[in-house]
Amino acid sequence: METKYIFVTGGVASSLGKGIISSSIGKLLQARGYKVTIQKFDPYINIDPGTLNPYEHGECYVTVDGHEADLDLGHYERFLGIQTTKANNITTGRIYKNVIDKERKGDFLGKTVQVIPHITDEIRRNVKRLGTMKKYDFVITEIGGTVGDIESLPYLESIRQLKWELGKNALSVHLTYVPYLAAAGELKTKPTQHSVKELQSLGVQPDILVLRTEHELNSNLRKKVALFCNVEERAVVQSIDAPSIYEVPLLMQEQGMDKIILEKMGLPSDGDLELLAWKKFLKRRASATKEVTIALVGKYVELQDAYKSITESLSHAATYNDRRLKIVTIQSDNVTKENVAAKLKNIDGVVICPGFGSRGVKGKFVTAQYTRENDIPTFGICLGMQSMVIEFARNVLGLADANSSEMVDHTDNAVIDIMEEQKAITDMGGTMRLGAFACSIRKGSRTDEAYGTEHIEERHRHRYEFNNDYLDRFEKSGMQCVGINPETNLVEIVEIPEKRWYIGTQFHPEYSSTVLAPHKLFLSFITASIKYHNEK
Ligand code: GLN
Repeated sequence: METKYIFVTGGVASSLGKGIISSSIGKLLQARGYKVTIQKFDPYINIDPGTLNPYEHGECYVTVDGHEADLDLGHYERFLGIQTTKANNITTGRIYKNVIDKERKGDFLGKTVQVIPHITDEIRRNVKRLGTMKKYDFVITEIGGTVGDIESLPYLESIRQLKWELGKNALSVHLTYVPYLAAAGELKTKPTQHSVKELQSLGVQPDILVLRTEHELNSNLRKKVALFCNVEERAVVQSIDAPSIYEVPLLMQEQGMDKIILEKMGLPSDGDLELLAWKKFLKRRASATKEVTIALVGKYVELQDAYKSITESLSHAATYNDRRLKIVTIQSDNVTKENVAAKLKNIDGVVICPGFGSRGVKGKFVTAQYTRENDIPTFGICLGMQSMVIEFARNVLGLADANSSEMVDHTDNAVIDIMEEQKAITDMGGTMRLGAFACSIRKGSRTDEAYGTEHIEERHRHRYEFNNDYLDRFEKSGMQCVGINPETNLVEIVEIPEKRWYIGTQFHPEYSSTVLAPHKLFLSFITASIKYHNEK
């Protein structure tokens, strides 16, 4: 089958959930047996989001091949159970860099290099790149930003060209917002009409409109939107607030979204969808009544998206443990020896979050000490694991000045130190230890119990590392280094086996938990937290 391309754009407002809609479309097509991938184009100039802080851009996701990516790739992986790569996330910065590199090499010799055709050609080449690998029946391309943004123009022009070139093999889905005016008691379609007009003025006619709404859309409203926007009435689909983002594929299916797509693309639309496991997951999620309460200790907890993959991984694990997940966010800047007990009262388990730089790190040390001494299940991830190590060195090994060389100019006890190969690096972008690396787990350890396998591969994003000069001292005093990289001997996992659950990972397990394959460490952490809750 020829690869089909679906473009997802957004209008009216940002944060309407284009990533969820793209993932849901992908899920429905996958459930019909098609091979699907999703990619995101981001219209900013940064080469990748790795250099953006979470205030700007939410979580930075990491692919197996070591690309620092937009957090929507996390949704794609969690919904579809696929692995994305660098080719699934392209920014304007990368498009321009590729074109400029080619220009310097002389590829355009004699020609003026311009947005059209050179930038749009490069966009088109990247849109089709995954398709030309012949692995996929469908390539869904989500365009970041909102129609009307100056930055989005080259992307929309590329979609116009591709739709012209690909005919039935291309389809455009436009997501808008239908606000509810309480005073008038009405849903308003005018912003949608304007957004579609804007898109049409750029030569792109949407085939399907998805209307984000907080209230049910009636058929009059759908008719009206269809009439004004040149789309079929059945192709006006609502996306209403759902109790879980994972309900969205089913809500789309109920409205025939998959059928419309297939028919418009000339494919058969009869036959059943394989969504059994997905529905089972949702049922289990909806029927959980008891809660498990997990504290997230980090410096960006006030931002909803900063630890997206962690909260999603926790929620998958809670569902498979028949619990409703309750997250309590704790700003690590504010945690002190005096208030930590009060802050962690009624908490069943604690996640010490990843992070960079020294702000808030003291609160992470205090948390690690309190949960260790009071035997509260604790999961340290990346900087969270490093905090566990530093706290243990200070308070158990008696190395009062133990620290990470990231946090201080000098310490005699850098128990977390910069990696040798990082020392000469001066560029900040894309230069950390990134992507999936192998790790061997010690037989009989608590971590081994959780994973049930000796060889794992997990994704990394860090510059600093456990300092092996101290390994023996840690082990003799009870903190075991149970996960080791077989090639470099780097310590990837520490645990205190005598505790209920006290495990820290240098890698980020949260990037690989999916709806249908929840991560083993998160499952085991939630199980331990429930057990602790019951014992309290
Ligand atoms: N800042 C730490 C490092 O670079 C931890 C990074 C992280 O938590 N992702 O090693």
